[in-house]
Amino acid sequence: MVKAIVGANWGDEGKGKITDMLAQDSDIVIRFQGGANAGHTIINNYGKFALHTLPSGVFNEHITNIIGNGVALNIPVLFQEMQEITAKNVPMPKLLVSDRAQIVMPYHILFDQYEEERLGGKSFGSTKSGIAPFYSDKYAKIGFQVSELFMDEQELKEKIERVVTQKNVLLEHLYHKPLLDVEELYRTLMEYKEMVAPHVCDVSLYLDKAIKEGKNILLEGQLGTLKDPDHGIFPMVTSSSTLAAYGAIGAGIPPYAIEKVVTVCKAYSSAVGAGAFVSEIFGEEAQELRVRGGDGGEFGATTGRPRRMGWFDCVASKYGCRLQGTTDVAFTVVDVLGYLDEIPVCVGYEVDGEITTEFPVTAKLEKAKPVLKVLPGWKSDIRGIRSYEELPENCRKYIEFVEEQIGYPITMVSNGPGREDIIYRK
Ligand code: GDP
Repeated sequence: MVKAIVGANWGDEGKGKITDMLAQDSDIVIRFQGGANAGHTIINNYGKFALHTLPSGVFNEHITNIIGNGVALNIPVLFQEMQEITAKNVPMPKLLVSDRAQIVMPYHILFDQYEEERLGGKSFGSTKSGIAPFYSDKYAKIGFQVSELFMDEQELKEKIERVVTQKNVLLEHLYHKPLLDVEELYRTLMEYKEMVAPHVCDVSLYLDKAIKEGKNILLEGQLGTLKDPDHGIFPMVTSSSTLAAYGAIGAGIPPYAIEKVVTVCKAYSSAVGAGAFVSEIFGEEAQELRVRGGDGGEFGATTGRPRRMGWFDCVASKYGCRLQGTTDVAFTVVDVLGYLDEIPVCVGYEVDGEITTEFPVTAKLEKAKPVLKVLPGWKSDIRGIRSYEELPENCRKYIEFVEEQIGYPITMVSNGPGREDIIYRK
């Protein structure tokens, strides 16, 4: 059985917690896209961790963790994370890295920084982890696959030379920055080879066998639908698909192998970076939600940046769940809303005088104004509750209202950051 765990919104929905929780009954957890640009926060009996590249199964000794071919693999970050978790007494995780995954090169990170500098106020709010330059090179067919680290020295140097020639034109004439050196890059790649060699694997073949053996497999998504390059808020999107469907490509398994899609949806909204955010709130109202949000506030796991805050957006979430092909919704951080007397929910968008509940393309989204409905709060702490019936009536009404609006079943309600803070509904 293959399950995908993905986000319905702008990311930071709590996928890490849901993955860590569901991982306990799984044999394999796979990251299939994205890179070290976003992070999952996970709290368990070993402590609190911000993972950027490692799959969220690393805290379970029985799990094989896999970096799929769709990932932007930053090798030093990956191994630094391994060291960080083992330093906190987590047993050395079993880790496999796809021989077809491509490598984030040191110059990808530099180009990301230089381009943001060049764009100045018009920048995309990149985390400067090299993700956009990495994926550009992948599709321009000048990226480096893990498998290429094992080529003959001469062959590899020739390829580096070809790439460096092109990069140096940009560095010299567009960015006016120091040039790249072939020998230095070769040495760096050999360091990467040494680190990654014990983990390299033909992942799609491995997974083919695992599927035939009936293993439980989790595909772990990063960010959410609205950051998808095709279906998200283009151009304020990420550079690899955030959709469950891409899980098949980014891991090398058949699309029909994915039987369940658990879409994680947060009980209010948050976003990072620029771009339209219809249900956004500001000022003190936003700050209060930001500080109370998640576990220890809504601040980026990778960057520490304060996240933009908003009320729950039924329009965006309905769309987000639809594009994921949702079979189950995990509704998270419901406990955070317990301080509010009343809870506004965005139930529609007004665009050019017309009200819609369908998520529009970016040009229209920029003009959309939220149509809010105010629901009564429950004014109590719901952490520790383990059965749905024990939740306060207004809390259940909030959940059921959202479920009706988005049209997908909320089968899990998360009421705290820990593994055990979960209410199964159906
Ligand atoms: P991810 O990238 O989707 O994994 O999300 P993040 O890790 O960036 O954000 C989720 C944050 O919310 C983390 O700090 C989690 O520990 C926390 N969290 C997850 N689920 C819950 C929940 O139900 N309640 C509370 N209070 N915090 C939660």
